Parts: sequence; C-alpha cells; structure tokens
Amino acid sequence: MSNDASAAFLGLLEEMTVDDVRAFNPEVVVVPLGSTEPHGPHLPLGTDTYQVTQLCRIGVKEANERDARALLYPTLPITNNANARAFPFALRVGVRTLMSMIMDIATQCWEDGIKKVVFVNGHGGNFGALDAAMREISGKDNMPFACWTWNMIPDGFQDPIEHPSDHAGESETSKMMWIRPDLVRTDKLDDNPFGKLRVPSLNQTNFVRPWHLYVPISAGGETRTSSSDKGESLTKSQAKGLAQLLVELSQVPYSERFPYE
Ligand SMILES: [Zn+2]
Repeated sequence: MSNDASAAFLGLLEEMTVDDVRAFNPEVVVVPLGSTEPHGPHLPLGTDTYQVTQLCRIGVKEANERDARALLYPTLPITNNANARAFPFALRVGVRTLMSMIMDIATQCWEDGIKKVVFVNGHGGNFGALDAAMREISGKDNMPFACWTWNMIPDGFQDPIEHPSDHAGESETSKMMWIRPDLVRTDKLDDNPFGKLRVPSLNQTNFVRPWHLYVPISAGGETRTSSSDKGESLTKSQAKGLAQLLVELSQVPYSERFPYE
C-alpha cells in the first residue's frame, strides 16, 4: 500500500500535514461545536461532541467527494452550559468567552485566507452566543462570511423519531447507538420525566430553563424506542444537508456582494 496522503481523509485537518493543507487549498472551513454535559443515566457526557463530530465527518467527506473544498476543524468540546450548573461536570465557558472563541476562530480563518466559515452546532446551550457572534462578525473588515447550522434536514425526510425530546431522548440515544454503541447503557433506557411549567404562557417566551428543573435526571422523554437504524438515518440525512451547503459555498466565489448575486 502506498504511503501518500491520498489514504488520509482529505479535509479532516487533524489528519493532514501542513503540506496536505496547502495543496488542498480549502475554500470553506467547518467548525463543529460540541459539549460535555450530563445526558442521563444511559448516555455519556460526550454525547453532543460525538454526534456533531460524526455528522461533520460524513458531511464534509461527501461534500469533498462532490468537489467541494471544505476543511473540518476539531470539535470544541467545552461550550456554554450556564443553565446546567446544578449537575456535576456540566463543562462550560461563559457566553462572552464562547463568543470570543467563535470570533477569534473566524479571525484566524481570515488570516489563513478563508472567506467562508460554517459553525455546526451540536448543543442547545450555544444558540444565543452563536447568533450574537454572527452579528459581531458580520460586516466587519478582515472577517469571513460566517453562518451557523443546527439540523439541516433535507426536504421530504421522514423523521423516524416517535418521541421528540430536546435532551438525551430517543433521537440522541438512537444516534449514540449508531455512533458509539459501546457507550450506551441499554439497561438504563426509560421514559424520563420533564419538569412541568407552573406558568404555561412562558412556553411562548424565550427564557433560560434551569436544566435540573426541566430534566431532573439530566435526560427527558421515552428512550426505549431508540435504535441504531434511526440514529444512522437521522445523522446521514443531516450530513446530506450539510454536504449540499458546503458544495454550494465552495462553488460560489467570494466577493463583496457574497452571498448575493
Ligand atoms: Zn445532547
């Protein structure tokens, strides 16, 4: 077997040499944001990081096979968990720190000649910081075009999840059953409780939910209907959406009017 770079995953920065990266001449950078936080008695704390890393690896690989030039950065494993501090080891940096990290990464991309950056978010606690950081980046000199995504499900996708949950439910359990089945405690699958609001109209507002009150055991919803097949189908469909975005971003040259005609 030859010992050249063609054996490596083209576009995965951690596996490339500096010469590989120069020759690859990336057009778009992809930055995954994970998290390390409790995910109930059945899933590991690294769940968000494993999921978003897998999604990005598949999406970037597919995009580059379709002639995109997308470069995948390592996943950030510690992000915002201000509302989960009542649980042990909900690893976190503050909103301002996370915004600064996002903006510093965007600055570094620009300095390395990158004009388009996609942040792929794998953790619900990061929405506000990402939105605010995009505002800070936009329209500034010496900053690339930046966007962030969460779930890029292609049109027509049939969601196999029977019991939606926003934390450590059927969807996340299914994905982990596919990605790292060795880390899922299948004997601990259950229907986990959600905290009930005493002020129902708050459902129509934005407020930061204290996680220990909303998901008292750090997981919510039915997980016994989870399966590896569901996790594979969800992850691959999201990766397809991401791949399409990366192909389009790679094809359209950067200009002062980007991304408009
Ligand atoms: Zn999660």
